[in-house]
Amino acid sequence: MKVTTGIDLIIINATIATASDIIPNQEIAISNGKILLLGQNLQSISPTTPALDAQGGYVMPGGIDSHVHLAQDNSPTGDNWETGTRSAIAGGTTTVLAFASQKRTDESVIPVIKEYHRRAVDAHCDYGFHLILTNPTQHILQNELPLLVKEGITSVKIYMTYQPMKLGDGQILHVMETTRRLGMTTMVHAENSEMIQWMTTKLEGRRRVEPYAHALARPNIAEDEATYRVISLSELADVPILIVHMSSKLAAKHVRKAQTRLLPVHAETCPHYLLLTSERLRGDDFHGSKCVCSPALREDPMDLQAMWDGLSNGTFTTVSSDHAPSKFDHPLGKKQGTSTFTQIPNGLPGVETRMPTVFCEGVLTGRLSVTKYVELTSSNPAKLYGLGHCKGTIAPGYDADLVIWYPTAEQAATNGSTMMTPFKLNNNLLHHDIDYTPFEGMEFNNWPRYTILRGKVIWNRDEELLNGKGEGRYVKRGMSTLSKPREVFVNEFHPYE
Ligand SMILES: [Zn+2]
Repeated sequence: MKVTTGIDLIIINATIATASDIIPNQEIAISNGKILLLGQNLQSISPTTPALDAQGGYVMPGGIDSHVHLAQDNSPTGDNWETGTRSAIAGGTTTVLAFASQKRTDESVIPVIKEYHRRAVDAHCDYGFHLILTNPTQHILQNELPLLVKEGITSVKIYMTYQPMKLGDGQILHVMETTRRLGMTTMVHAENSEMIQWMTTKLEGRRRVEPYAHALARPNIAEDEATYRVISLSELADVPILIVHMSSKLAAKHVRKAQTRLLPVHAETCPHYLLLTSERLRGDDFHGSKCVCSPALREDPMDLQAMWDGLSNGTFTTVSSDHAPSKFDHPLGKKQGTSTFTQIPNGLPGVETRMPTVFCEGVLTGRLSVTKYVELTSSNPAKLYGLGHCKGTIAPGYDADLVIWYPTAEQAATNGSTMMTPFKLNNNLLHHDIDYTPFEGMEFNNWPRYTILRGKVIWNRDEELLNGKGEGRYVKRGMSTLSKPREVFVNEFHPYE
C-alpha cells in the first residue's frame, strides 16, 4: 500500500538555530508551505520526497527585514519591489516590511495603501507595510487607522526631522494617543530637526558643502536629544515605541535606562552603524555621498562598539537594513548633491548584505551568539510587528521560511563537509538595482546558501537560482506580542479616562 504523507520537502543534516536553541542533526519536513515535523529519520516516513542536504550548516528562520524603503516617490533611482526583494532573498531575507508613505498633501491614506499594494505585486518575498504619517489629521487618526489595522497594517512611522515629513511634539502625542488605543507600534526617526537646520545654515554659509559636511550637520547630540525627548513623550502617553536606526552611544544609553525603568521602549540599529565610520564621507571626489544617510555614520569607533554591545545586551530589539538607496552615478541620484550636501538623497543599499554582514562580523567573530542573531534578525521583528504567530521561528505549523548557511569552520571540521570559499564583496555580485554597495571589498566567510519561502527554494547560491517575481505574498499582521501600554502614568491624572 502506498502511503501519501503530504510531505513536499525534507531538509536533512540541519543544525537548527532558533532564538532559544541550537539543535544539530535534525531533519525538517515541510508540507504545504509549512513546517510539519522536526526530528530524525523523517526520510523513512517519506522516502520518495525530495531532500535538501544542509551538510551540518545552520538552518534558521528566514530573515525578516523590518525597515526597507522600496519604490517611494522621494527616491526615484532607488530599488523597486522586484529588484529590492530579489536582493532580499539572495541575502537570506524572506519577509520585508516596507513603507507606504503619505505625502503632506494626501488627505486620505487609503489611496496611498492601495497604490503601494499595486507597486508591490512583483515581490519575490513576503511583505507587509508600515504607514509613514506626515500629516496626521483627525480624520486619518480617527477613521482611517482603524481600517488599516483591520487590513493588517499595525505600525506607523513618524519623523522628528526632515522638513517635508517631520511632526512637532504635540502632533506626536496625538499620533501616540491613537496608536495606543489601536495597539499599533509607533516607529520614530529621532533627530532634532532645529539643531540640524542651524548647523546646516552655518556650514553652507562657510561653503562647507561637501558630503562630509552632512555628518558635521547631524552630530550625535541631535540624535541624543531627540531620543531622550521621544522616550519622554512615550512615557507621558504610555505607549510602546520603536526608535529606528540608532547610531549614537549616548542615545542607546537613554534607551537602556528607559528599559531598566520598564518603559516599553524598543530600538533598532543597522549594519552600517555597526561597521562603518564617517571617515567614509571624506574625500574630494564626491564618493563620500555614497555613505550619506541619517543619522550620519559616526566618527568615533566607540559609537560602533556601543551598537554591538546594544545588540548583545538586549538594548536593541531588531537589526534591520534601512535599505533606502539612490544610485550614485545618476542625475536624480546622489549626484543631485554635487553643489551641496543638503541635496544628496539620504540612504544606503543594504537589504541583501544585512544577514551576511551581521552573521560574519557578529556571529563568526564571537561578538554575538547564534541564538541572539536569530532573535535580532528574525524572531523579534516577527513578534514586534505582529507576525509572531506564523513567522520568525522553526516549529511545526509555522511558515517554512528558512535560510540555510554553509557549514562554519567548526561544523565542517566535525562532519567533513566543505565550507564556502571566502570572497571579497563586489557590487556585481549583488542583486539590487543600485550601482554601488557601502560594503565593497569586505571579505565574507559565509553567505546564505539557500533561501526557502513557504517551502520553496527561492535562492540557491551555488546555482544562482532565484524564484520568479510576484511569488511573494502580502502578510496581514496582528499586534505586537513584545509589549503593550503599561497603564502607568506620570502622575495621578489618567489622560485617557
Ligand atoms: Zn528608513
